[in-house]
Amino acid sequence: MNLKISTSSPEETAETAKSLINELTGKTVLLNGNLGAGKTTFVKAFAQASGCREEGSSPTFTLMQRYRGETDILHFDLYRLNHFEELETIGFFETMDEKATKFIEWAEKFKLEDELESFVIIDIKNLGGDKRELLIKE
Ligand code: ADP
Ligand code: MG
Repeated sequence: MNLKISTSSPEETAETAKSLINELTGKTVLLNGNLGAGKTTFVKAFAQASGCREEGSSPTFTLMQRYRGETDILHFDLYRLNHFEELETIGFFETMDEKATKFIEWAEKFKLEDELESFVIIDIKNLGGDKRELLIKE
């Protein structure tokens, strides 16, 4: 998979996420892009369009959000983590064995590309205003 998709609004990014449900379900997706690029917007739209429901808050809520569905979605936001060991503390690598769709924001902070076996990378670039470019490669 090697796609370049431009969007002009959050709704279009949501539509893009929806259009990729078949491609991405069950996979590990590393989301790259600056703060405000649209990473979280993409994951929330993907979860909603997949018919998955956000699970109530847990102690690790801000680090990992679970969406329950036919295939669960695990959404990690590693922005606040600073040390690789913290990933082990929150059980990150165990959850990677789950049969779920995993989305990971800020994976590049921990060089997870070297730790994970297979993944899809989505780079979201802010082109100014509401314009975004999504580069999707497997
Ligand atoms: P991130 O998780 O990458 O930090 P968020 O998804 O939390 O980013 O926030 C993206 C922000 O940018 C939201 O306020 C959203 O409304 C806005 N936005 C504007 N245009 C777009 C677009 N084309 N795609 C996604 N988000 C957009
Ligand atoms: Mg985010």
